[in-house]
Amino acid sequence: MSTNSIKTTCCIAGGGPAGMMLGFLLARAGVPVTVLEKHPDFLRDFRGDTVHPSTLEMMHELGLLDEFLKLPHSEVRQISMQIGDDRVTIGYFDKLPVHCKFIALMPQWDFLNFLASHGQRYNAFDLRMRTEATALIEENGRVVGLRARTPGGELAIRADLVVGCDGRHSTLRERAGLEVDDLGAPMDVMWFRLSRKASDDDETFGHIEAGRMMVMLNRTDYWQCAYVIPKGSADEVKRKGLDAFRQTVGEMSPFARDRLDEIDDWDKVKLLTVAVDRLRQWYKPGLICIGDAAHAMSPIGGVGINLAVQDAVAAANILAEPLRRGTVTPETLHAVQQRREFPTRFTQGLQILLQNRIISPALASQGERPKAPWFFKLLQWPLLRRIPGRVMALGVRPEHIRTPETIG
Ligand SMILES: Cc1cc2nc3c(=O)[nH]c(=O)nc-3n(C[C@H](O)[C@H](O)[C@H](O)COP(=O)(O)OP(=O)(O)OC[C@H]3O[C@@H](n4cnc5c(N)ncnc54)[C@H](O)[C@@H]3O)c2cc1C
Repeated sequence: MSTNSIKTTCCIAGGGPAGMMLGFLLARAGVPVTVLEKHPDFLRDFRGDTVHPSTLEMMHELGLLDEFLKLPHSEVRQISMQIGDDRVTIGYFDKLPVHCKFIALMPQWDFLNFLASHGQRYNAFDLRMRTEATALIEENGRVVGLRARTPGGELAIRADLVVGCDGRHSTLRERAGLEVDDLGAPMDVMWFRLSRKASDDDETFGHIEAGRMMVMLNRTDYWQCAYVIPKGSADEVKRKGLDAFRQTVGEMSPFARDRLDEIDDWDKVKLLTVAVDRLRQWYKPGLICIGDAAHAMSPIGGVGINLAVQDAVAAANILAEPLRRGTVTPETLHAVQQRREFPTRFTQGLQILLQNRIISPALASQGERPKAPWFFKLLQWPLLRRIPGRVMALGVRPEHIRTPETIG
């Protein structure tokens, strides 16, 4: 089969939150950009559906917030946890210094379609679905493009810069030989839905007991449930059978016992394996990785999408002008890593602290009911209680849109 070739300024592999946001912002700034997404659409379930206050603030900065909030969504204004007998609120969002004092729960495909449709307003934006990046093209020690599989055959794309936004199983970071530090995750997650009744509590919450943990996200007409299991134990859970699984879910959430027969097939329970890792160096000449491709995030705190979007905004702020002038150097790419490495390390550090201090001991416990750690109790004090919500909602070092809009 023949190979077609095209040329662009920036080629982004992966149309997730990082890739779509970066593609949109670069096109908006007048930089020719080609975004490749291997799937035919964004319609995939269980991608994490949280849009954080910091991302909503960016929509405000872009003048798109009112339109964005017209998409169907629910609003989480507070998050609580039941740890054994202790009930602690870990997310108060009511005093955040931003326009939206809530996390919007919205299907991720709506968010990505929104970015795609706004990207398409610019001539510089070229989104190619069903196009999978398979290899890098390198010349004289520099990445000068990539090869992609398309329904019409192989496509070679030459670009001044290639950006790996292809998620935690990134092909590009592997092909580039970038070194990854595996930071470890003690758990995997089984996702399923249960219908929600008007009489149910409306709070999004987590519940931890000896040997088990469950999180329920309020999605208005249903609960998105995450049952957390020790890493690699999904087969054992399944071997015990659906009745045992339903019984455990009922013990964790007694109010939902009347609808557990909705889980009538393992097909309705999706396994998501959790990884936490980080690249030592996010770039090499002609290539940079951002989002999960640079740092896979644990689902704790539901902050991975937020970090991916923040990476994209920082990358656009730093790269747009050098891309327009054709002056991107390894130093420019280093500036992107330098800007985003601290927020990434800080957030992963917190996730690992919570994994080690709460999740691992709880999952390993055979009998004794877990207790909320002292620092959770301290964070209930009026002066301190807004700190975790702020970190969760805005992250550290929140980014702002600095790229201009160039019409055309
Ligand atoms: C169990 C679990 C639950 C989670 N829940 C949440 C949550 O509630 N909230 C939250 O904020 N985060 C959550 N996360 C983390 C979140 O999913 C990620 O951090 C976030 O999606 C990263 O965005 P990204 O754009 O970097 O990568 P991704 O979202 O992984 O997007 C990568 C894209 O690249 C495409 N792609 C992959 N390879 C190629 C290729 N070779 N060529 C072309 N395209 C390619 C993929 O199809 C995909 O569309 C969760 C993670 C896990 C494991």
